[in-house]
Order: sequence, then structure tokens, then C-alpha cells
Amino acid sequence: MDSGVRAWREHEDSCVAALNSIVGQRLEIRRLRSRRREADFLAEPLRNAGIGRPALEALLGEVRGFKARARGVRLLLARAHGEPTVHPRDVLDLPPDMGPASEAKIPFSKAIKLVEEGFASIHPEMGAFVRLMADRRWIDCRNGERRAAGNYCWLFMKSRTPRVFYNPSGTIYDVNGLAHEIGHAFSLQFYGGKGLPFGAWSGCAAVAEMPSGLAELAVRDAMFSSMPEPADRLRTAWLDMVTVVMDLLHQPALFELETAVHELRQKGLLTASLLKDAEARVWDDWYGDILSAKSETFWMDEISYDANECFWSMVYTFGTLLAVGMLAQKDRLGDRFYRAYVDFLSDFGRMTVEELVRKHFDADLSRPEFWRSSLGLVEARIDRFEKIIGTICPRSHD
Ligand SMILES: [Zn+2]
Repeated sequence: MDSGVRAWREHEDSCVAALNSIVGQRLEIRRLRSRRREADFLAEPLRNAGIGRPALEALLGEVRGFKARARGVRLLLARAHGEPTVHPRDVLDLPPDMGPASEAKIPFSKAIKLVEEGFASIHPEMGAFVRLMADRRWIDCRNGERRAAGNYCWLFMKSRTPRVFYNPSGTIYDVNGLAHEIGHAFSLQFYGGKGLPFGAWSGCAAVAEMPSGLAELAVRDAMFSSMPEPADRLRTAWLDMVTVVMDLLHQPALFELETAVHELRQKGLLTASLLKDAEARVWDDWYGDILSAKSETFWMDEISYDANECFWSMVYTFGTLLAVGMLAQKDRLGDRFYRAYVDFLSDFGRMTVEELVRKHFDADLSRPEFWRSSLGLVEARIDRFEKIIGTICPRSHD
């Protein structure tokens, strides 16, 4: 039994009882609030995330159509490690050992330069913002043995200035994490910029991970072109593929599992065997024959036990593909993109994400075309990855 879930399995009955109560409570509250109009269990999570149902349906339709491609990427990552199949719990592999990186440890001075280049590729003012954060020492990057690895960003509300906590081990992945947090920092300056109170803009999760996702994409592209060593390039492109696996395969599968749990609870009490069967069906649909074992434990540790917060998986998929879509808008609008992007961020919290995108980019998230073109850009990244891994790890194509 995989050790990651052993502790959960011992409490299978407790998990079933907890889900019966929590999901049952959500359904009951939804029923009580549906006196005039019947609302389903997705209505509130969608409203909390600021996502409209037509946009979610358009997104999911396209992501389902991309399933086989995302599954192929997952298998490719496993094969690069010499594994013919994928264990359901192996969701975030690091790349195989491809020899030393061109720099054993990327120092902060180099990391911030890479992030600056990536931001500047979107607009010079975004590059200048990264430099300003470094010069004003708004990034806490001190190394110390008592500091746990990780990154974080928040805002001092009074001065409206962001800070980033960055505790790296010096890899390309840390640079990616730094880009992510500075992406948040950049957007935080503008949120509520037109007098909107904190509570109004702090909860719209669908957009919150988009600026960080956009920053990661731009910085990874800058890293990819500035690193001549194929092994460094593969490490960078590997990060793109981890996003594909997580947000276009794993998270949509979790979304469908959480949906199935709610649908089952609507019909009656949940049991462990009902939940395991539902998970096996969903995983079979998304992962097909690439799995080395049956999946039947995610219902215990990946479904939300919070009475008020659930269906987070859709937010990640939405945010990731929206970020890719923004990169496409940058290519379409050229110099006009930056102003539209800043206005978009400043309006954050005032309207749904569809209205925001329609107002500032004249694009329609409720149409499949928006998501299809984002997936087209993802496809190009997969092609780039397949070419490079074919030369470095030939066994990946066995
Ligand atoms: Zn984030």
C-alpha cells in the first residue's frame, strides 16, 4: 500500500461519515436557498470563484477533448524515468537525472534577472516592477538553515506595497516559484485600485492564479531561450508539462470525482464502495490504460472537507488556461496589451471573469474558441518538449 495514503485508509469509515455530513450539509443549504429557483451544488462554488456556468462548460468541453493528449504527456514523463506506466499517486515527477545543471545553484542575482527578462517580455514596465521589488528589498531572500523551502506573497494594505518571501534551494524550479509570487505581487498593486474594499476583490479565485500563471509562462519562455544547454532547456520545458499534467488531467479528474460525490450524496448515503467505484470510473476515463494500479483513494484526501469551500480543482484548470489565453492576447494586441491588462486587474472583483475578459479584451470565455486557442498554445509547448526530450532521453519514446 502506498505510504502516502496509509494514514487515511485506517480512517476510511470516518472519511465516509465526514463526507456524508459535509456534502449533505452543502446540499441541504442549497435546497433551503432554492425556494424560488432550483440551484445545483455548483451554483455557489461558481459564484464564489467569479466563474459563469457557460464559461465553465465551454472550458470543460475543450479540456475533455484534450484528455488523450494530456494523458500522453503524463506517460511521456513516466517513460523518461524508465517507467512503462503511471502509478495513480505519482502526479508530480521531477525530471530524470540529466547530468549537472550549467550552474550548480542559481544565485538570487541571476534568478531575479531571469524573472525581470520574462516580465519585460510582456511589457517594459513589468520588467521595471521586478527591478523595483529587488532594489527596494521587497523580496526576502535571505538564506538560513532554519527556513523551510517555499515562496509566498502578500500586500501591506496601508502602503499598498507587496512583499515576497523567497526561500530557494537554487534550482530552475525556484526561479519559476519566484516568477509566480512576483506575478501575484504585480497584480496586488492594482486590485481594488478604484476604491473597491478588500472583501470584494480578495475572494475571486478564478482570476487570482491567472497573473501568477502568466508570469510563470513568460519567465519559462525567457529561461528557455536564454539557456543554451539542452539539459537546462529540458528542465524548463518539464515545468510546462507538469502544468499540463496537473491542470489539464489531474484537476479535471478531481473535478469530475467531486461532482460524482455530490451526485451520489443527492441520491442517498455515501459508502466506501460507492466512492471507490466512482473514483475508479473517473480515473479510468481520464487516465485510461496508462495506470499501473487501480485508483481508489483520492476521494479520501483530495475532496474538500470544508463546508463552505469546494470544487477548487476547477479554479486551477480555469486559471491556467486563462493565463495561456492572456499570452495569446498579448500577441494579438501588441503594445496595447499592457494597458488592457492593468485595467483588467483594476476591475478585478467588480464583475465575473467573463465580463472582465469581454470588457478589456473583447474575448468571449463562454465560447469554446477561446479555450481551443489556449489549448493550441499548450499543444505548441508539448511539441517543443517532445522534440527536446527525444534527443536527451531517447527511452522516453520507447
Ligand atoms: Zn499562487
